[in-house]
Amino acid sequence: MTERLPVAVLGASGRMGQRVVQQILDSDDLALACAVCRADSNSLGADAGLLAGRAKAGVPLTTVDAGFGDARVVVDFSLPGGTLAALPYLGRRALVTGTTGLDAAQLAALHTQADAGPLLHAANFSTGVNVLLALVRAASRALSDFDVEVVEAHHTRKVDAPSGTALALARAAAEARGWDLEAVRRDGRVGHTGARPAREIGLHALRAGGITGHHEVWLGGPSEQIQLVHTAASRDVFAEGALRATRWIAGRPPGLYGMSDVLGL
Ligand code: NAD
Repeated sequence: MTERLPVAVLGASGRMGQRVVQQILDSDDLALACAVCRADSNSLGADAGLLAGRAKAGVPLTTVDAGFGDARVVVDFSLPGGTLAALPYLGRRALVTGTTGLDAAQLAALHTQADAGPLLHAANFSTGVNVLLALVRAASRALSDFDVEVVEAHHTRKVDAPSGTALALARAAAEARGWDLEAVRRDGRVGHTGARPAREIGLHALRAGGITGHHEVWLGGPSEQIQLVHTAASRDVFAEGALRATRWIAGRPPGLYGMSDVLGL
């Protein structure tokens, strides 16, 4: 029998972290090495398996300063503060992070980790969204005179907007045309906006109920339009993708990787 890969979960008390813990415990090739949550969490000290609705795992939730034990890969679904707080404790371990909402300075700090160990940061771990990114790149390049708008919808407890996935889709469309997203993005419209400039990408965020994740990319031409739409039915797709990345990244050299590497896109 081959040895199980020891994995730590950062954000283990959260909506996504609990899914990741479930899938690690249900797998026959991964082991839950440790589980981390924020210091003021009610779940601190609770058993990670019981918290995730599984049998007792013998892994109590700890804070990040307790380190990551013998984990070889850390899977992170926390918040920007959690991701950055973990960096000094990672050493050469691989980090697979799905945390969104990092600003440019936080992203730059995260990327320094790629000098020490393998790092994979994905705004969305679903295979469908990663194929969608490739489709958006192709459509934006081929239909270079079409207007691009990105619409996303999520549950009401999401704290960042627009979603990391919406930004990734907008960036894919922008880069396919040689544009810098920051120079052309337009976050919502209200009032007397004037006519829409051609060199613009609109971003629009809806928040309602329990929506897991919905993204639309609109490409509007003068007499025809295309809508590319992705809807996630369950958070399990993100956990599955993150663990696919976890299996793929273990043992890789230091560096910055993406889901396109994992999926061979
Ligand atoms: P959540 O609020 O339910 O859980 C957050 C978790 O992070 C909790 O366990 C909390 O204790 C922990 N945490 C927060 N700050 C921390 C800190 N400073 N130190 C240690 N732990 C800390 O959130 P969620 O819905 O599970 O989402 C978590 C993140 O994952 C968000 O950024 C969300 O946008 C992102 N997300 C990414 C994907 C993807 O595919 N990449 C999919 C879904 C959600």
